[in-house]
Amino acid sequence: MTRPDDQFGKNRFATIAVGAAESETHPQRSGMNDVVSPIHLSTTFEWGSGEYANEHDYSRESNPTRAALEEQLARLEGGEHALAFASGMAATSTTMLSLVPPGGHIVSSDSIYSGTEKLLTELAAGHLGVNVDFVDARDPKNVAAAVGSDTDLIWVETPTNPLMRLCDIRTVADIANDYGILFGVDSTFGSPYFQAPLELGADIVVHSTTKYLNGHSDSIGGAVITNDDGVFEQLAFAQRTGLGNMLSPFDCYLVARGVKTLPARMEHHEANAMVVAEFLESHDRVARVDYPGLESHPQHKLASEQMSGYSGMLSFEFDGTAIELEAFIKGLEVFTPGASLGGVESLIEVPSLMIPDEIGHGEATAAIPETLVRVSVGLEDADDLCEDLRTALP
Ligand code: PLP
Repeated sequence: MTRPDDQFGKNRFATIAVGAAESETHPQRSGMNDVVSPIHLSTTFEWGSGEYANEHDYSRESNPTRAALEEQLARLEGGEHALAFASGMAATSTTMLSLVPPGGHIVSSDSIYSGTEKLLTELAAGHLGVNVDFVDARDPKNVAAAVGSDTDLIWVETPTNPLMRLCDIRTVADIANDYGILFGVDSTFGSPYFQAPLELGADIVVHSTTKYLNGHSDSIGGAVITNDDGVFEQLAFAQRTGLGNMLSPFDCYLVARGVKTLPARMEHHEANAMVVAEFLESHDRVARVDYPGLESHPQHKLASEQMSGYSGMLSFEFDGTAIELEAFIKGLEVFTPGASLGGVESLIEVPSLMIPDEIGHGEATAAIPETLVRVSVGLEDADDLCEDLRTALP
């Protein structure tokens, strides 16, 4: 399937985002002509045969509200199949653990969400004996050097959490193709609005729908999208029959509702992030800003080529002591200090202060500097955001 914005321009993406789950022919309309897909809470569905045969029989296996969301996500990402999971980590772990056998081999980018790092090092490597090689995926040659004919999966995150590093999806997809290896991309930071990994040659796209797709900080969820029938069959079996880690109908409804405003929100997130990034770059207590939209970002050119926008996430290095950094965070009034990202409200996180035990310290994965601050730029007034930072920075 081709992604809507390539066929028809970005407006088409918005049209699909608003209406995909509510298409005329969709069974979710249930004969009542609902404009919004209803929330089907039923765990089971009456059995029927012949003309009364039912598409759904038990909600762990499939559910009309989940099916509507999955169809919407697949169309947005330009994929044939989508699965909605109970969290981003459920999506990632089900993908990795069902596609890579015990003792198998994964090559992963070394800049990666801390939960994915723990999954790889502790569950995959520690528990299942999977060989995991972390490489600096900013240079595709490092990926090429680490893969071999025994590699089962190449996994990258781009842009990465929290270092905002990019990986050249098309070049890594070519490497994966040469070896016949599956290639998965965690595209959470870009969202389907700004980044289309399947189109660039990836086999699997994962999102934490907790972030931009839902967008309102009130639902934990995840998604996998793929064009590969075999991968879909394996993941669907693992999710529906083995692990049972699917998204609940109510959360499916929330994510489907969030998706409708994804294009509008992402444009606004990006515009605000650019203003905040430029403000921070000009401040003398900020040592460096990592925002792919800034020309100073070392991979700005790649970002402009493989993304259609730069999204709303950035990080910066504070120039000062840990005590000053903590005082700065406590002095903020518009930004909320805390984990997560991608919601309408601006959030700010200092990994070394708030999640010191979870972050990479540079043994296998990229080290997170002590003074690194991650910012999820929300939809507030951009001047208010800059004023808040200006007032709180020493
Ligand atoms: N991938 C990325 C890039 C993330 O930032 C996160 C969470 O922060 C996840 C995956 C995991 O998502 P969840 O918290 O929904 O399990």
